[in-house]
Amino acid sequence: MKTFQSAIIWLLLSMMIAGCTSPDSAEIIEFSGRTMGTWYSVKVADLPGSISRQQVADTIQSELDNVNQKMSTYRDDSELSKFNHAPVGAPFEVSKDTYQVISRALEIWRLSHGAFDITVGPLVNLWGFGPSEKTQTLPSKSDMVAAWERVGSDSLMLHSNVYQVEKVKDVYLDLSAIAKGYGVDKVSLALQDLGVHRFLVEVGGEVRAGADKSDGNPWRVALEEPVSDQRKVHSVVPLTNVAMATSGDYRNFFEVKGKRYSHTIDPRSGMPVEHNLVSATVILDNCADADAWATAFMVLGPDEGMAMAEAYKIPLYMIIKVESGFESRYSQSFAMYLPKDSR
Ligand code: ADP
Ligand code: MG
Repeated sequence: MKTFQSAIIWLLLSMMIAGCTSPDSAEIIEFSGRTMGTWYSVKVADLPGSISRQQVADTIQSELDNVNQKMSTYRDDSELSKFNHAPVGAPFEVSKDTYQVISRALEIWRLSHGAFDITVGPLVNLWGFGPSEKTQTLPSKSDMVAAWERVGSDSLMLHSNVYQVEKVKDVYLDLSAIAKGYGVDKVSLALQDLGVHRFLVEVGGEVRAGADKSDGNPWRVALEEPVSDQRKVHSVVPLTNVAMATSGDYRNFFEVKGKRYSHTIDPRSGMPVEHNLVSATVILDNCADADAWATAFMVLGPDEGMAMAEAYKIPLYMIIKVESGFESRYSQSFAMYLPKDSR
């Protein structure tokens, strides 16, 4: 593990500057819009002559709508909401997409020793980070215990040959920490099917880059300062055929009497996380895993999280709040993504 201190704090996020600063910007086509309660942006550098812009725009929108329609807890008619309302003990058939996401989530739950847990939904809702109306007061102890009792991915059973999911107890799934990443992956694969290979896809801060731009340069994704009310670019990370996701608590939090409560819940304590980790950025070959792991590291915190990243050789970049300001830490496998002079 390497550590360096910095007077100014910078966080890897999704503000993409490729296309607006590089000389080949004229060849880059951008598509953007709204999905999953946030914004998406897709940059394409090698649109084949046989494919129209409208075709690409429609493909992107339909892939994202599809993921949202299946996995949103904000829609009562989503596949996920139907599963959440389904009875205990009855195998429930889901689409291949939802099955794949749940199955990746269970694998990351296992690997992260329970830090990432999609059954955390009742606690997320109780703390006002779910689809229900936001509250201004702290939940009661008894409500917390009741919600926490419903948490635990060991209460999910998967029947892989038939894409069925079964609840062993009354769990409620929340895929918010993996679905955006999965949406990025689906768009990326759909672009490749259209013959587009040089792309950068971003949904709400989670990104996936395809092959390098036409000039041979990699896509560059900005380092951003972790403050809630502004966006400042510091430096950039080159990405080629990889995905990058960031989890952070500086934009989405719940405040009561001046105390901030994170939207990341530690399933092991039932409480919003409280340590001094400001953000965790992960680079992996697919965005669903990167998205989920970024949340897992936010739960695990600076020490346990970094130790796990080193053990699994996951490229991880953390920003930690310390008395004198902020400190950045990164795992060995992240070093190659940073400018040489800051390593
Ligand atoms: P971030 O950018 O901070 O990762 P996300 O929207 O990707 O934000 O993920 C945060 C959401 O994940 C929360 O709002 C909640 O719905 C869900 N969540 C919170 N804690 C956990 C956890 N321990 N495991 C899985 N999902 C969680
Ligand atoms: Mg995330």
